[in-house]
Amino acid sequence: MDYKGGYCGRIAAVDLSSRSVETIDLTLDLARRFLGGRGLGAYLLCRDLSPGTDPLSPGNEILFETGPLTGLWLSAGRLHISARSPLTGTIGDGNSGGAWAPELKAAGFDLLIVRGRAESPVFLLVKDGEVQIHPADDAWGKNVGETTDLLRSRFSDADLKVVAIGPGGEKQVRFACVMNDYARAVGQGGLGAVMGSKNLKAIAVRGRGDIRVAHPKELMAFLREKIAHVQKKPGFDYFKRMGTTSLIAPSNEVGYACYNNMQYTRCPDAHALSSEHLQEHGYFRKSMACYGCFLGCSHLMVSKRGTFTEGIEFGTLNEVTACGIADADVAIEYNRVCNEYSLDTFDTGHVIAFAMECFEKGLLTKADTGGVDLRFGNSESLLAMVEQIASRSGLGDLLAEGLVSAADAIGKGSHEFANHIKGMALDTDIRGMPGWGLGYIVSSIGADHLRGSTSFTIAASRAMSKEQSVRLIGKEIDPSSYEDAPWAVWYEEKGDAVQDSLGLCKFISSPHGGPDLIYYKEYAELLYLMSGIEIPESEFDTIGERIVNAERAFNAREGFGRKDDTVPPRMREPARGGYNEGAFYSQEMLDVMLDGYYELHKWDKKTGIPTPERLNELDLPVLAEQIAKIHDPSSTP
Ligand code: SF4
Repeated sequence: MDYKGGYCGRIAAVDLSSRSVETIDLTLDLARRFLGGRGLGAYLLCRDLSPGTDPLSPGNEILFETGPLTGLWLSAGRLHISARSPLTGTIGDGNSGGAWAPELKAAGFDLLIVRGRAESPVFLLVKDGEVQIHPADDAWGKNVGETTDLLRSRFSDADLKVVAIGPGGEKQVRFACVMNDYARAVGQGGLGAVMGSKNLKAIAVRGRGDIRVAHPKELMAFLREKIAHVQKKPGFDYFKRMGTTSLIAPSNEVGYACYNNMQYTRCPDAHALSSEHLQEHGYFRKSMACYGCFLGCSHLMVSKRGTFTEGIEFGTLNEVTACGIADADVAIEYNRVCNEYSLDTFDTGHVIAFAMECFEKGLLTKADTGGVDLRFGNSESLLAMVEQIASRSGLGDLLAEGLVSAADAIGKGSHEFANHIKGMALDTDIRGMPGWGLGYIVSSIGADHLRGSTSFTIAASRAMSKEQSVRLIGKEIDPSSYEDAPWAVWYEEKGDAVQDSLGLCKFISSPHGGPDLIYYKEYAELLYLMSGIEIPESEFDTIGERIVNAERAFNAREGFGRKDDTVPPRMREPARGGYNEGAFYSQEMLDVMLDGYYELHKWDKKTGIPTPERLNELDLPVLAEQIAKIHDPSSTP
């Protein structure tokens, strides 16, 4: 397919078992229905994977995706990756910045699909329209940074863009991530373990082609105007200086922080991790940005231990406090080693916090931990457990299976404080914030805050005016209302799905980034200027709905439904600390939210599964057929 711009029109499919590479056309029909990125990944997984595929078997596929806006100087350097998740068993996908995705496009591909399993470790080299498979025995066992350096030096190309796994991915830790450009993580869901299961150590990309643009002059003018518009928004400079660490102070005031495995919703020493403290004490060494990003919310951070890392996020700091630790030097070291081993900083920290509570309650002893004193607040124990998990040694082998399996193995009531949704660890407390919480509860990949959680419904933002509410999510709602939460999540999740499919960062888009940023109207314009493809503004909402339905259908085939849209036991206990003190989830509140949410989607309320009729309405006939079998009581899915 020949596109005027935006898309290359080509997908590379690599089968590591047969060592073959095939090039497939990206059809206009697929581009119009799913845009690219997350949407296209969800559809292809539904189409190509048989239900019940073991995520760590050669039968799973891992897709590396770009969107039609990838490469724009509008925070559009995002890489999206999709596969069935070995952590949750649901669809698994995630997104990171960096510069790998624009490079893939410059190399001539919109998507790279990897199937099968290599007999021994390999890496892929994608270069100017060609994909080569190379042995990676000398890289196996190396950390992410060493692997990236090794490939750059082997090909004498300092600009080679590399996604890689470290030992955590190789050992198939179920929450291993994929690292991109050394320090950008496609974090949750264990996609690094999928690479490890395929003996795929890394993918290096070099493209010397252009990313084509259908209407370059008009696009430049449009970008100038939009960038200036976003730069004038209140809070822009502050966010640029502080990044998401700026959320530490409000989270502790409001009570969505995680302290001592979520036994408390405030961390008493949180000021030591606040952005103001980090800035004042010289931890922020240099401002960093993903490819083509005019915002640049990231930092190079240097610890007093002499080590450095890039861009600690709020959720990572929350997991450090979940272990009872509020020490910036430890947090930097924790982030650094997790990145080097390709371990997700959220699930790693949370499963260690869980083990700490087990230890304090006497369910684990030093005999289980290899002598590690696993009490809350012990920094060296946190770092020691990261080593054990990455190498799958001692207790680390059990924790590497994720929260649910760890609680199954330890037993003795430990499920009561395993804080996960669908097997994925919570990275913020969700009590007292229905719109924020519902996004986590219904997210297709497990407890994730970037798929419908409405940031403005966090209690700190309750001052939002009626007019702002209408501008932001199309309706006046009360952010504290359980009855209103479904609308907010339903509205936001479609926008989030579209952003992940176009290739944009959520921080410059509404509603996640705030009111009056760029949204459907601007997406329609940008898509046209970039690719020449005209999709009316109103159609983006339907595309978002289609993507959310495809993901829901994938999960329904794997047996997920209403019973899984729930909260862990700790969220049913009253919150302790902050403005949200006393808040909790009752079954009645959950039922109100789920009924309302399923109704908006026109899904079956009893099961929480899309109906075949709804899937057909959304132009998903293949999925309608698959789901009809689940709705038919005489058929076994
Ligand atoms: S806003 Fe931050 S995360 Fe988003 S593209 Fe820019 S630097 Fe990357």
